[in-house]
Amino acid sequence: QSKQLGKNRCQFYAQDMQEAARARVQLEAELRSAIELQQFVLYYQPIIHAASGTVAGAEALIRWRHPERGIVAPGEFIPVAEDTGLIVAIGEWVLCEAVRQSRQWRSQGLPLLRIAVNVSGVQFREAGLVGLVTRLCGEHGLEHSELILEITESVLMQSSDLTEVRMREISALGVGYSLDDFGTGYSSLSYLKRFPVDVVKIDRSFVNDCPDDRNDTLLVEAIINMAHSLGLRVTAEGVETEAQHDFLRARGCDYVQGFLISRPLTADDFEAFARRHAASR
Ligand code: C2E
Ligand code: MG
Ligand code: MG
Ligand code: MG
Repeated sequence: QSKQLGKNRCQFYAQDMQEAARARVQLEAELRSAIELQQFVLYYQPIIHAASGTVAGAEALIRWRHPERGIVAPGEFIPVAEDTGLIVAIGEWVLCEAVRQSRQWRSQGLPLLRIAVNVSGVQFREAGLVGLVTRLCGEHGLEHSELILEITESVLMQSSDLTEVRMREISALGVGYSLDDFGTGYSSLSYLKRFPVDVVKIDRSFVNDCPDDRNDTLLVEAIINMAHSLGLRVTAEGVETEAQHDFLRARGCDYVQGFLISRPLTADDFEAFARRHAASR
């Protein structure tokens, strides 16, 4: 009986695995053509100054407009793109599109914004990143200081001397770095000292239970204080309630981002949001 069960289960696993492998191969093939077919689109989530409430910038977040599946979230395809190396081409498109859009907003009279772009570790190991950033900003006339690259701790963890050199080259141009999902990885405080990080982005899992959970509250306070003593600024991500916002503001958190302020928006909706926001002050 139990042997039979085990055998069936094995069969299920084998089938599941085959199914998963097939789905992955198809996903990879579709991803390959998605750039050419212009199926990717960037959404922009506002990042505001906690103290004044003015719009400081936006984080560009990729979406895939799939012909059958509709809007596909990055969590469903970025990992495969990273495994297959397709992230290099996709990441190049993201940077290019974000810089272009940002420049367009400026020429449409929107106040100065800092645009944050997520960069994966695979992209960072590519030789072309420094040249790409320089070329794009030059072509579109964007100040380097208007661009900020979001990296995660894993990028720093796996970094070689070369990554560090590359990071410093980009940083020397005036482009900023923000350390994403801070606190979830193998956070090592030495990273903050060693690498040219400008902003620490507190992961939303810590923000979530503030100010109710005592441990999370203490952690968030500690991160803000530590970052400030190192001369860094702090963004809290995943701010969903007024109570969280009030708490973060009171503790001196510099920027906030989350559904309370706005969900990620299409470029047009973001423009309208930024105008409304500026007008209401
Ligand atoms: P991330 O960089 O940490 O981005 C923040 C994620 O949290 C976004 O999910 C955003 O929609 C979501 N979020 C923002 N505010 C709230 C909130 O108040 N509550 C909740 N529950 N969620 C909130 P999204 O857009 O699905 O992106 C997921 C991840 O995919 C990103 O995490 C980032 O790691 C990656 N990603 C997105 N775009 C790109 C890209 O262009 N390139 C690369 N390499 N990765 C990207
Ligand atoms: Mg991010
Ligand atoms: Mg994040
Ligand atoms: Mg996150």
